[in-house]
Order: sequence, then C-alpha cells, then structure tokens
Amino acid sequence: DAKEAGRNTWRFFNQLVHDRSVRLLAIEHRLRGALQRDELVLLYQPFVETSSHRVVGAEALLRWNSPDDGLVGPDAFISVAEHTGLIVEIGDWVMRRACAQLAAWRNAGAPDFRMAVNVSPRQFRGDKLLAQVRECLASHALPAGALQIEVTEGLLIRNQPEVRETLLALGELGVRLAMDDFGTGYSSLSYLKRFPFDTLKIDREFVRDLGQDPDDRALVTATIRMGKGLGLSVVAEGVETAQQLQFLAEQECDLVQGFLFGEPVHPAEFEERWLNRAVGDTPTHAA
Ligand code: C2E
Ligand code: MG
Ligand code: MG
Ligand code: MG
Repeated sequence: DAKEAGRNTWRFFNQLVHDRSVRLLAIEHRLRGALQRDELVLLYQPFVETSSHRVVGAEALLRWNSPDDGLVGPDAFISVAEHTGLIVEIGDWVMRRACAQLAAWRNAGAPDFRMAVNVSPRQFRGDKLLAQVRECLASHALPAGALQIEVTEGLLIRNQPEVRETLLALGELGVRLAMDDFGTGYSSLSYLKRFPFDTLKIDREFVRDLGQDPDDRALVTATIRMGKGLGLSVVAEGVETAQQLQFLAEQECDLVQGFLFGEPVHPAEFEERWLNRAVGDTPTHAA
C-alpha cells in the first residue's frame, strides 16, 4: 500500500544519504592517509608565450599517486577534500611544494620563471591563505609577482567580505591573480571589474572547436579583446592543435597552455624538456 511504499522510499533515501556520507568519509580517510604517507605529487604543465613559444612558467597540477589506483587526477578527490575541509591541509602542502619548486627553477637558470597554483574557495576562509603565501614567498626569497594564484568565479559568487579582503591583499602584495575557466560561469565580467585580476584564462571548452565553430571563434576573439582592453594578460587553455594556436596567435592571445606544447609532467621531465627554453628575460607585454 501507499504507506508501505512511502516507508520504502524513505528507507531507500536514507540508504542513499548514508552511502554518500560513508563514501565521502572513506575517501577522506584515504586522502588523509595519502597526505601522511606523502602520496600527493605535483605535475607541472608549461605555459608559453604565443608569439615566441618561450616558456614563461608552469601550472602546478595536483595528483594522488595511489598504491591502489595509480596516478589519480584532482577531479576525483578535490571536491571531497573541499567538502570535508581537508583541502586546507592539502592546499597548504601544494603551496609549499610549488613555491619550493619555483625557487629551485628560478635559481637553476630561469630567473623570471613563474608558477601558477590553483586555490579552492575553502582555503579563503579566515586569514590563513594570506599568511601562508607571505611565508612561502619570504622563506624562498621569491618576488610576489613570480606566483600566480588561480581561482574560479565560484569563489566570488557568494560575495563574502573575507574573500574580497584576501584577494585585495594578495593583489597588493603583488601576487598575480588569474581567473580560471573564464566563460563557463554566470557573471565573470563584473568580477573582473571588482577584483584585482591580472590574468584571464579562457576555458578550454571555447578553445576545443576553434577550428570548426565560428561562434567559438567569435567568443574567443571578443574575450581576448576585452581582456586586453582591461589590461589583463590573456591565456588560452587546452590548446591541442596547430590550427588553434594559429588562430590564437592571429588574435594576439598573450599566452597558451595545452597538450600541443606539453601535458603536465613530473619535475625531472619538466626540467629536461622545458627549463632550457625558459632562460632569459620574460618580455613585458600586456601583464
Ligand atoms: P585547471 O586549473 O583549469 O587546470 C587545467 C586542466 O586542464 C588540468 O587538468 C590540465 O591537465 C588540463 N589540460 C591542460 N591542457 C590540456 C589540453 O590541451 N587538453 C585537455 N583536454 N586538457 C588539458 P587536471 O590536472 O585534471 O586538473 C583539473 C582541475 O583540478 C584544475 O583545472 C583545477 O581546477 C583543479 N586542480 C588541480 N590542481 C589543483 C590544486 O593543487 N589545488 C586545487 N584547489 N585545485 C587543483
Ligand atoms: Mg588552473
Ligand atoms: Mg582552467
Ligand atoms: Mg578547471
């Protein structure tokens, strides 16, 4: 009967909720272990000046080197870490690791090398992030401009004062701020005006079909014009083909990043493949 069916639905629903929280807890438990056992690793992907193909810097991209599952990408665990708060500890590790690597590469013959680090909304709670960034820069004697912090507009959507204060303080410190995945959200334009962004990264969704889709060509062209008009450095993400690169070069997109130049790799491989192409002065263009 109806009552019975209702009860079953309720039971089923409870089971779902229970399964979900058990699954979250299980992943959190494994992640915590991963941190303790030092199983997190950073891979590095070059970003390249479009006009010269010179390597300007790298983005640090997190992986979990799991004994069970191999190299696991962030999409599988970042949201859980964000949900449980573990991202604060993980983010702390990422920032330290990336800054140490940045300092090492700048000292190894690439004095203008830059490092981009992704930061999650949860890391903006309280005032820890600012202190942590200051400390990382100071302990390696890094100029703030060598570090780029990448956020998505999801961070800005709730309009929290502490987020705003931290972003403004990071900007004042001289850290570069990048709006990541630009174009995939709802109201990025006003955020560009209200926060001290230096860099706009066009999401790869718009880059993918540049060869075939006139709408994407129009959107990307307009985004580049707007970004440069605002004095921002514009980066295209997910560049995979020579055709995409040619279009972006014609539109004077400042920087490109993607598999065409290189996928994210371990530090030793990065050094071998890229560091020699990063020597010399970084040209001072739109940035
Ligand atoms: P994102 O910051 O937008 O990073 C770019 C993503 O695109 C990376 O995926 C990169 O491997 C991938 N990619 C780069 N070039 C190409 C290309 O030519 N084609 C295609 N198909 N993909 C390309 P990944 O490493 O899986 O990272 C996914 C997202 O996870 C990142 O997106 C970022 O939002 C987040 N993430 C990565 N590392 C961290 C971290 O240390 N902390 C936090 N909070 N988030 C991170
Ligand atoms: Mg990023
Ligand atoms: Mg992105
Ligand atoms: Mg992304």
